[in-house]
Amino acid sequence: MTDRWAVLTDLDGTLLDHDSYDWHPAEPALQRLRALNIPVIAVTSKTRAEMADLRLSIPDLALVFGCENGGVVVDQRSKPERVDVLGTPTEALVYCFERIRAEQDAPGLGFHEVSDARVAQWTGLPLDQAAKARRREASLPIYWPEDAPGRQFFIEAVERAGLRVLAGGRFLHLAGSADKGTALDRIRQLLGDGRPLKVMALGDSGNDDALLAAADWAVRLPPKHGPARPEPVSKAILASQPGPVGWNEAVLQWLQRMQPAQETQS
Ligand SMILES: [Mg+2]
Repeated sequence: MTDRWAVLTDLDGTLLDHDSYDWHPAEPALQRLRALNIPVIAVTSKTRAEMADLRLSIPDLALVFGCENGGVVVDQRSKPERVDVLGTPTEALVYCFERIRAEQDAPGLGFHEVSDARVAQWTGLPLDQAAKARRREASLPIYWPEDAPGRQFFIEAVERAGLRVLAGGRFLHLAGSADKGTALDRIRQLLGDGRPLKVMALGDSGNDDALLAAADWAVRLPPKHGPARPEPVSKAILASQPGPVGWNEAVLQWLQRMQPAQETQS
């Protein structure tokens, strides 16, 4: 390849199956990428602590990755690892949350102020995983049942304070302005070595839109359950199947389109 490429990928529902978390159907494409020396970089909502485990179970994932929806970029090629917090640090989010909660006498509880056991109970994660999910650097999940009062009032106050709120079921996720597109920019800098790095990106949800929009080649995976989101993401191709099966097919098709791309990139 004349251009230098990296594959940046979401994990849950994209490289990993939505239900089983299996990634093995993507092995043929991962093998091709390995042979061509094209790195596979995770950009995920998971924390740095959770990613450390995943990197061990998926050996093809690069030592550089993005966590917490782009709020953190980690480079483990150096010792000690380099950690770039691109988003608003969790301590600042905690400060803002506690101030607004006190003003509104509101009921939410942040991950920072409860036990690992409580988070395990809320999320269904095993205790050790819950502990890792609690170790936040640039985001703050807040437990706030959908029917508990004051939810919308609270969200508006947080947004007025300049932060973002992602509402998902029983949790509100507080973060600053960094997104997966911000992480892509930093990863380009880290891997560029002075040469421009082109990016092929894959994702399945709204939190991947900024990643897909900033990429040179983008693939959106359809959801495993329920209807596909109707709105297109600029220039992204819709894969024919969800999860690692669609991932495998989309990457192999992309590699074919990049022909003549047989030589390994250096
Ligand atoms: Mg996903």
